[in-house]
Amino acid sequence: RKYGVALVGLGRYATGQLMPALQHTQNCQLVALVTGTKSKAALYGGRYQIPDTHIYNYDNFDRIVENEDVDIVYIVLPNSMHAEYSIRAANAGKHVICEKPMALSVAESQAMIAAGEANQVTLNIGYRLHFHQAHRVAIQVGREQPEGAVKYMQAELAFKVTDPSEWRLNKALAGGGALYDLGIYCIQAARYSTGQSPVSVIAREYKTDAELFSQVDETVNFQLEFADGAVMSATTSYNFKADRHFVAYANNQSTLEIRDAFNYSGQQLFMNGRRVALSRVVMQSLQMDAVCRSLESGADTGISGAEGLKDMCILDAIYRSIAADGRRVVIDYS
Ligand code: NAD
Repeated sequence: RKYGVALVGLGRYATGQLMPALQHTQNCQLVALVTGTKSKAALYGGRYQIPDTHIYNYDNFDRIVENEDVDIVYIVLPNSMHAEYSIRAANAGKHVICEKPMALSVAESQAMIAAGEANQVTLNIGYRLHFHQAHRVAIQVGREQPEGAVKYMQAELAFKVTDPSEWRLNKALAGGGALYDLGIYCIQAARYSTGQSPVSVIAREYKTDAELFSQVDETVNFQLEFADGAVMSATTSYNFKADRHFVAYANNQSTLEIRDAFNYSGQQLFMNGRRVALSRVVMQSLQMDAVCRSLESGADTGISGAEGLKDMCILDAIYRSIAADGRRVVIDYS
């Protein structure tokens, strides 16, 4: 049978992207919902034919342990709830997919990995772009370096957050601002295009609206430095809309460029300036199917909790560099 997936948190990403993607998966299907809102339980339970026995709230969530139809619990809650629900799901003996950013801290991320190991279940992070064709080319470039090592990368990812009640602006719920939410995509792109993790960072924060962004970072510019001298320069913001562009330059002036790199669709891939045709894929479907296949083959998904933890170490170093007014901070992966 197909693996059964329970979605926890029926917000914008779960309902707008993951539920539709689960209609295109080969290896898994939506079988359960976890929501604190009765109207959402009725709406989505009806739409996707989920029986009442398979709809949970945050109080009775742990009873999911008894539900043999559920194999995978997918956490799509505000960041502050990722660790708690991932650990509860692992303790219920369920495999976990948790949305990015993995948690609020390195320590929480380590606790999530430990819970998976203790319960012999897998933990993966919702890094959907690993399953997009354009980014798969970047991953291959990082692995095989066909034009020599990547020397310099640049990325921007920014959108405007205007609603003061948005949890993304609340430090206790979000953990951080644009860097935390969006910078992680730039960090990931730099890591898979080079096939390496950075060794140090230099970062600065800029604020133009101190009231709206009183708790979290608004605009951050950071450099990731790699052991071989490669550099990534990235900018993230919650106060303007940027191109969402990613470019990597290798030794002999070859370039890999992805326009609209981090969007849900519309990516354009250019290799050495020439556009490469891409067929349409639903990357979240491929992501969830790859997780399912790995449950049988034991293959590395590339989006494991261990990978998420490295990104948390990098984010931690970036915030320490900001706090130290842009001083170079060596990243501690231990
Ligand atoms: P959202 O605000 O639309 O949804 C959050 C859900 O959590 C809502 O259904 C809300 O009711 C529920 N919730 C439960 N307790 C809550 C509380 N105390 N405060 C606020 N909400 C609470 O957010 P979203 O954009 O769907 O993001 C959810 C997660 O998914 C985040 O971790 C985000 O980073 C991640 N995300 C990932 C992608 C991606 O492309 N991989 C895209 C968007 C969001």
